[in-house]
Amino acid sequence: MSVTSDLAELYRDLHAHPELSFAEHRTAAIVARRAKALGYEVTEGIGGTGVVARLTNGPGPLVLLRADMDALPVREQTGLPYASTAIDSGSGQPIMHACGHDMHVTCLLGTLDALAANRDEWSGTVLGVFQPAEETGRGARAMVDDGLFERFGKPEIVLGQHVLPIPVGTVATRAGAILSANDSLLITLHGRGGHGSRPEAAIDPIVMAAATVMRLQTIISREIGATDQAVITVGTLHAGTKENIIAEEAQLGLSIRTYSPELRAKILDAVRRIVHAEAAAAGADREPTIEPVTRLPVTVNDAVALDKTRAALRAALGTDQVQEIPAFPASEDVGILAEASGAPLSFWFFGGADPAKFAAAQQNGTTDRDIPMNHSPYFAPLADPTISHGITAFTAAARAWLNPARPGNPLPESFPAE
Ligand code: ZN
Ligand code: ZN
Repeated sequence: MSVTSDLAELYRDLHAHPELSFAEHRTAAIVARRAKALGYEVTEGIGGTGVVARLTNGPGPLVLLRADMDALPVREQTGLPYASTAIDSGSGQPIMHACGHDMHVTCLLGTLDALAANRDEWSGTVLGVFQPAEETGRGARAMVDDGLFERFGKPEIVLGQHVLPIPVGTVATRAGAILSANDSLLITLHGRGGHGSRPEAAIDPIVMAAATVMRLQTIISREIGATDQAVITVGTLHAGTKENIIAEEAQLGLSIRTYSPELRAKILDAVRRIVHAEAAAAGADREPTIEPVTRLPVTVNDAVALDKTRAALRAALGTDQVQEIPAFPASEDVGILAEASGAPLSFWFFGGADPAKFAAAQQNGTTDRDIPMNHSPYFAPLADPTISHGITAFTAAARAWLNPARPGNPLPESFPAE
């Protein structure tokens, strides 16, 4: 593929210049410039730093391809010649593309190029969505709230891919839940402050918080079935300033992981019910407040849609290269694009690890040690041929959902003249 050397250079440049969530200004500008040069209609600043690149090429389905753009507060230790030395000017934190979103941006730009170059072979609309702030779980939501679907139309399918340290050339996916939901909540229990010697004149939020924490434990043990999986962790509990003062309020920070929308809704309902009931039991004057901090839905691959996408991936990469994986205990916000538009999602992982190194580590049982995972300061996907495989996969999946242009048909009116 002729695009590779240019794209490998782009990848190294993006890698050396990572940007934190909602601060992807340089990345967004590069994306916009390149997509325009490919003949796409480009809109910047969607949901902050998001970029949308649209190519309307006659009648047919709208196919959404998504790449996330943000990096992480990690000090890179890969030793690569293009390793990041970036420091966030505001917080002083080191920054690294430790999740491979630089690879996602590169692959989507390569895919947009491939689709534009072969536009006589398909008909429909391609919507490249370069999303900010996946790592904080807010970017997809921000783009949706900024009118992504009202302004650019509702897609037939949402396609997304994530690089993972599995052998390069392989793709891994599954129907149904592929990633867990993660809901973080900040709960404030309002008491009535007072002197520590006169509890009868106060409403003690610490006792309220203690009862709430204990009661929340009964959701997993008493309210969900033995075959369902979920976790509720109360990770923070803050209240009070001094031992002889009854505090005004207490704050709890919760993290909840679930694998099905039904179970997620059930658990969130139970949390709400218990928090309000414990406040009522304590005689609180004010209702507690529950604020969502992070809301990442379960990432669910629509089974019927995935069959179609997977067939295209198999045809493009080889049947054996497309593997089945169990649900992964991490979270993503790509599902929000599907949920908000009503379109099915096809999401898969693609390999970035050296196959020989991976095979050796697997044989020694040392993959955890020798093959650095996403978010590790040593995470280093191979630039080549990961980029070509990512483009092949994304392009094949997109083409499966676009209409094939009928041979002999004149090009549609909306074909951009260049
Ligand atoms: Zn990540
Ligand atoms: Zn990621």
